[in-house]
Amino acid sequence: MGSGDGAFDCGDTIERIYHYLDGELTEERRLAIQQHLDNCPPCVEAYGFEAELRHVIANRCHDQVPDSLLDRVRSALLEEERRQGLSDTG
Ligand SMILES: [Zn+2]
Repeated sequence: MGSGDGAFDCGDTIERIYHYLDGELTEERRLAIQQHLDNCPPCVEAYGFEAELRHVIANRCHDQVPDSLLDRVRSALLEEERRQGLSDTG
């Protein structure tokens, strides 16, 4: 798998989505993520999940995120990685 001009793979994208949601990415990187999301439904799912999570956090908590919520995020991301690993040879 050696294609993509400047595009991120799934792992990179999921990681950067955090920064993306925080508005910490440059325009260039945001576009790269956007492009990946356009072509990768699993990442869109993850992104949607994260975006919603951010929204909830923004509304409910100002600074602190409950450990239980972080745990759910972590396991969701781990599961995502596992799924990608399983479908890697497809
Ligand atoms: Zn992806």
